[in-house]
Amino acid sequence: MRSYNAESYSMRHAYAAQLHLPGPVFRELVVWALQSLPDEILVGLDVDPNRKHIDEVESAFEGQEHVSNLFGGQGYVIKEAHVVNRGDSYSVHHLPEEWTDDLFSGQRGSRAGRFTHWLHTHPNAPAIPSGADTDAAQETTGVDMILGLRFSPEGPLPWFDDVDGTRRSLGTEHAPKTKRSWFSRKELPVLGIAPTGHSIHDIQLIAFHKTGLGVNVLLVDESGYPYGWDELIQPTS
Ligand SMILES: [Zn+2]
Repeated sequence: MRSYNAESYSMRHAYAAQLHLPGPVFRELVVWALQSLPDEILVGLDVDPNRKHIDEVESAFEGQEHVSNLFGGQGYVIKEAHVVNRGDSYSVHHLPEEWTDDLFSGQRGSRAGRFTHWLHTHPNAPAIPSGADTDAAQETTGVDMILGLRFSPEGPLPWFDDVDGTRRSLGTEHAPKTKRSWFSRKELPVLGIAPTGHSIHDIQLIAFHKTGLGVNVLLVDESGYPYGWDELIQPTS
């Protein structure tokens, strides 16, 4: 999370806005993603209306292309996440009926507008939006996130890497490499072993607004400061 935040900081001018995601919520997302394999999951996220981004963090990470009032919930820390669907890359975007609020289903489309932000997973594929992802995002009030995971054993979903886009990984450069075995094409770093027993080789996380603008994710601790804040960010004041 520290190295991810360091990259969020150095790339801050490439983003229109920022989103503060608590580390414990992020950890839950990774565990749910792995427990649901081989399916993708769709997760709805709500912000805490009583918890704004910390001002000095917000200004330190603000880029030159910053846009105010870009999306719903902007400036507020994410509070909680709920898995609302699982399925393949097509069906996962269509909510089961129990999540479709009668009041809104008519005008708000397949996702029913129940949550501010949405996240879906890309099991063994990079966190880069597909055309279908961009379509689904058009009904999102806040932002859409994609969590890409590379893991083994791969099961029916070998790593699919043939996609163009900006990749944002968590800390693979510090991870120990797996032992080379006779069948592996190359050594993969191991970030950790999931509760499901999977070896995790790469975790990628991105957020984007429906207009196509990138949103910079910061992983924050209980106090609201990004992991690594003290070492990596030297406020100029
Ligand atoms: Zn997708």
